[in-house]
Amino acid sequence: MQESNLSQPSTSWIQRESVLLACYAMHSKDSLGRTRLEPEHPYRSPFQRDRDRIVHSSAFRRLSGKMQVFTGDMGDYHRTRLTHTHEVASLARTIGRTLRLNEDLIEAMALLHDIGHPPYGHCGEDVLDECLKEHGGFSHNQFAIDLVTKIEQRYTQEPGLNLTYEVLSGQQFRSHKQTAQTQMLEIQVVDAADSIAYDSHDVDDALKLGLLDWEQLDRLELVCRAKRSAPLDHIEPPLRRAMLVHTLLDLQMADFLKHSSDELKQAGRLTSKQMQDAGVMLGMSPTLEQEKLQLEEFLFEQVYRHERLTEVRDRAAVRLKQLYRYLSIHPEKLPPRVQQWSEPWGLPKAIGAYLAGMTDRFCDDQYLQLIEMGRPYGIDWS
Ligand code: MG
Repeated sequence: MQESNLSQPSTSWIQRESVLLACYAMHSKDSLGRTRLEPEHPYRSPFQRDRDRIVHSSAFRRLSGKMQVFTGDMGDYHRTRLTHTHEVASLARTIGRTLRLNEDLIEAMALLHDIGHPPYGHCGEDVLDECLKEHGGFSHNQFAIDLVTKIEQRYTQEPGLNLTYEVLSGQQFRSHKQTAQTQMLEIQVVDAADSIAYDSHDVDDALKLGLLDWEQLDRLELVCRAKRSAPLDHIEPPLRRAMLVHTLLDLQMADFLKHSSDELKQAGRLTSKQMQDAGVMLGMSPTLEQEKLQLEEFLFEQVYRHERLTEVRDRAAVRLKQLYRYLSIHPEKLPPRVQQWSEPWGLPKAIGAYLAGMTDRFCDDQYLQLIEMGRPYGIDWS
């Protein structure tokens, strides 16, 4: 790289985006900026900086210890929150690049999207929501915003990662999905990639773990479509599973790209904001959407409610609930930093944030240390 490029802040990424991105993409130069003003970086765009801040946060690293659907004691094959997050980022970037949207913004939002998940997946979220019902409840999407605006800290005294308005608004949308307002195209892409990723990989993980068999899948229209486009019945099971997942991803991605490209063409030459105001929605064709819905209902009934999972969830719920009760009575057991949070937020929310930040394993350890080891002395926190 020539020295002159680095000595002229921001010119390289503005030029790069002006060449690569479509007019309807969210261009970095149009960003509404950050809460606290910062000088531009010489060679990274504001959204690239956001992506890096998210990747370097401790909450992001902890995603490797948090379950997606299946727990660590069920084996090492299936997805964790971290591997799911990378799959979403990868699919979302492919869509973004193909539609000439802002890939850096998409990547930052994708890497952020699940950062607020507590231990034990959606079961952990339900428990914390119940524990905090008198104090505003708990949502992993809102907690992601709390993490990056209040809890995570960079190398300055200021709280939060000081992310751009656009990245935060993507997460805000996840938190309030009932809003009628159409979202920025990049936000819509991350949402679609999340759904494409988990529907496909939950089929993969459930087959591998023996929670599903091949005959059950035959009644699904999307699987039948996959069989028509790939020779699934003519190859051995381990490769068949891999080919099914590949084909499910491919069918959904191709349909999303085709249908969304048509929508963008129809909308004409609009800016990012004009696309939003015009209510332009990216998505799959109605046929694929319907087939995907059938797959999701099937997964809900046959996998997420499978007794092997409900047993794990029930045990996890008891552990988390008892830890919450124990720490409410013994706040002195909280780390000093968490005790400080109870000043502005109140003790219940501080405990909720502490528990939500834990990995599954750390939560198990804390349960063992604080609850199980007290049992011989007749202490019962149930
Ligand atoms: Mg997700």
